[in-house]
Amino acid sequence: MNPLNRLETLHELTDGFRKANKTIGLVPTMGALHEGHLSLVRQSLEEMDETIVTIFVNPSQFAPGEDLDQYPRTLEQDLEQLAHVGAKHVFVPDSSLIYPPGFSTSIVPPKVAAVLEGEFRPTHFSGVATVVLKLFNMSRADVAFFGQKDYQQVCVIQAMVEDLNVNTQVRVCPIIRESDGLALSSRNRYLDAEQRKTALVLHKTLQHVRDLITSGQNDGFEIVTEMRQMLIDGGVDSIDYAVVADPATLETADFIDGKVVALLAAYVGKTRLIDNLIIG
Ligand code: AMP
Repeated sequence: MNPLNRLETLHELTDGFRKANKTIGLVPTMGALHEGHLSLVRQSLEEMDETIVTIFVNPSQFAPGEDLDQYPRTLEQDLEQLAHVGAKHVFVPDSSLIYPPGFSTSIVPPKVAAVLEGEFRPTHFSGVATVVLKLFNMSRADVAFFGQKDYQQVCVIQAMVEDLNVNTQVRVCPIIRESDGLALSSRNRYLDAEQRKTALVLHKTLQHVRDLITSGQNDGFEIVTEMRQMLIDGGVDSIDYAVVADPATLETADFIDGKVVALLAAYVGKTRLIDNLIIG
């Protein structure tokens, strides 16, 4: 499969789709594809007439000192996997196409971006929102497919779409996990065998939170205290956040009386992992 890397070629393709009244699905990724990404692609292939997958490691969502340079780049395998699931159109832009000389606009992300990831990665969601809006506009997609794995990212994009009257709908797909519960992530490949075992505590902690809540615990502070303790006992090296929050605003839930989302971000060695679980 030949990836598309020029905007003109992408537009020729999408013009054709539009003229033929075909619906367009978009699956934005940073590559290093795994079953989580492929589940989004399959969903789009099923729901939409045409599907465009994008692979772009977006520099503007990495802060200095984060893993932009080390981020895995596996284009050949990615293209093979995409061909295998039946994806025909893959857009792999160069950084200079997304951010040409003179580029100077960026999105101020919505309020929901300020907490959790936003506290630890203050420039991250501006970078995400800006590139996602560009990809929506470039692909003219009707529907874009995102994973619940990046729960807050979905909240940010949904709010942006609503606030700015963006003409692309957002579809959220479930988290794909290994059989032992570890959420698939391109960053899992940084983990050695021992760290891979330690990383299981993230999902186990989320399950424990669900068990606590379903058995009647409604004190958010108590739950969070247990979450942190379980992560530390399980061997994580540090915790950025471990919270139970309102599923829409992501404000911390002090008293739990309905649907909530438990979210966490923790380091195993130097690898930062995130996971979440909707409860109720
Ligand atoms: P990334 O390449 O990490 O930017 O992810 C691209 C898309 O794949 C995002 O919408 C992610 O939420 C989604 N994704 C990543 N991991 C998973 C997973 N384990 N299950 C479902 N979707 C995922």
